[in-house]
Amino acid sequence: MSSKRLIFNFTESELIVFLEENGFPKYMYKQLIKWIYTKYELNPYKFSDISKVNREKLKEIFSFQLPKIVKISIDPEDETKKYLLKVGKHEIETVLIKEKDHYTQCISTQVGCPLRCKFCITGTMGLKRNLSAGEIVGQVMAVIKESDIKPRNLVYMGMGEPLLNYENVMRSIEIYTNRKGLDFAFRKITISTIGILDKLKGLIKKFPKVTIAISLNQIPEEREDLMPAEKKYPILKILKYFEENKYFRPTFEYVLIKNINSSEKHAHKLLRLLEKIRCKINLIPYNENKIFPYESVSEEELNKFINILYKGPNAITVRRSKGKNIQAACGQLAGEKDAE
Ligand code: SAH
Repeated sequence: MSSKRLIFNFTESELIVFLEENGFPKYMYKQLIKWIYTKYELNPYKFSDISKVNREKLKEIFSFQLPKIVKISIDPEDETKKYLLKVGKHEIETVLIKEKDHYTQCISTQVGCPLRCKFCITGTMGLKRNLSAGEIVGQVMAVIKESDIKPRNLVYMGMGEPLLNYENVMRSIEIYTNRKGLDFAFRKITISTIGILDKLKGLIKKFPKVTIAISLNQIPEEREDLMPAEKKYPILKILKYFEENKYFRPTFEYVLIKNINSSEKHAHKLLRLLEKIRCKINLIPYNENKIFPYESVSEEELNKFINILYKGPNAITVRRSKGKNIQAACGQLAGEKDAE
């Protein structure tokens, strides 16, 4: 085991303290952040404005190791790129999605996921471990280094439940949004969660501009059948919170599965449930896969569902998942194999 500290784990304030403790000049944190996060230079010998002695010392103290790219799959239809990355002995996935005028990267927060939603492949793995902040940040850095593309948007919708890895996710947001470094806009970062109220409150308090997407997915009385974690983290508490805190406008995600949650009855209940909340509704036709027997909805069913929701006050969008041909779409991330 190397005792080196992974550089991508440090927030700016942590880096300042750590450098000082190790006898480096005070101003050096700025140089370091600039080399790493704006020039994407990870070889300390190339940090030309830092003295040779200090460059040597940096190399001794810090690890600059990114998650290793094991495999890249590209969807020929929409150019979605799925990266299989190695973190320690485990493998995780991140996806780079091409939009009209920008790129979005979908990142993972855990190896596997403990929630075991009945329709999601990642859930079948169970939780192997949390990713460190450095491993979360490393996903974007690895993609930038490989593709020369810096995404504009980041969505925490890959493997894992972000709010069950709260500390590291919070730290990663701080690192991603550092103005001197990667400089992502808060509003272009979306955290997708099943909804864990105390953590959600903390997230909103610290980062009020970050976008929050709640995976609602089913009306409350039937949600536990689809998402066993509903028992522990009831959705009604989340809905009540947003009803009472109208200054914040979350997105509610609703994956549409044929014969499960897509009937007109469901649409009417969903309409009533959300009409008192200021929110956006994001409908996601289910991405079919070989693991589960669930089927997606037809265009006709989708339109019927939308037309009912249109009677309410909230904006509705439909997410047409990309990367389906390479198992890179929502709920399809599981790693190719798992080196236990
Ligand atoms: N654990 C987090 C983030 C990962 S899932 C969460 O629950 O939000 C990201 C989104 O993909 C969720 O809204 C989830 O419901 C959706 N999803 C999972 N499997 C899917 C599938 N097969 N088709 C479409 N959406 C899916």
